[in-house]
Amino acid sequence: MIGSADAPLGRSLRYPADVPGSVDDRSVDTASVDTASVDIASADHTSVDLSGVSYEALVAEMIRRSGDDPEREGMLKTPERVRKSMEFLTSGYHMTPDDAIGDALFTESHQNMVLVRDIELYSLCEHHLLPFFGKAHVAYIPDGRIMGLSKAARIVDVFARRFQVQERLTEQIAQAVWDTIQPQGVAVVVEAYHLCMMMRGVQKQNSKTITSAMRGAFLEDHRTREEFLRLATDNSGPL
Ligand code: ZN
Repeated sequence: MIGSADAPLGRSLRYPADVPGSVDDRSVDTASVDTASVDIASADHTSVDLSGVSYEALVAEMIRRSGDDPEREGMLKTPERVRKSMEFLTSGYHMTPDDAIGDALFTESHQNMVLVRDIELYSLCEHHLLPFFGKAHVAYIPDGRIMGLSKAARIVDVFARRFQVQERLTEQIAQAVWDTIQPQGVAVVVEAYHLCMMMRGVQKQNSKTITSAMRGAFLEDHRTREEFLRLATDNSGPL
């Protein structure tokens, strides 16, 4: 148990106006202090209506709170740049897999695995809004239809250009291929580096996260799955 003397100190650091410093206040146990902090924090971003504030003004305020001056020369256009950059990085919210594939579906009797390897991938983690980046490998076994080769990359972008966790991103890519071309099987592997782990937090520079998602034949037949994993991960170059 944390000593009760810590509670007023911890609270005074975060909410200076909220600590009367009375003897009674010191007897508040840490559990109730934590609850109070959570209430204040959540009230901050749920009850204040900022919908009328421009994106640029919000970014300028973030710069100010970080300790810099959004009015200085080098940063004057930063809020506008951040808005445009963020619009691009989250443009996947306005796209569907059908938009990405268009009419690039073709009838084809090919029954062997089609693998598109090393698709560059850039996304933003939903917990820190920091980038994670790496490669996606997308494979499928056609069942009468194939898609244009560039379309796997387009599908990756539809879901990568959102706030994401890597696990869901991998599943969404697999599900989109499964739904749109209705193949015999789909397999997706994503390998990525997360800046929220590299720049902060545990500061692990070389730890790569690998996720996979499978449907149909890749789940049912271990030889098919192993062939995919061998082809997808063999001789992977540096990132
Ligand atoms: Zn993160």
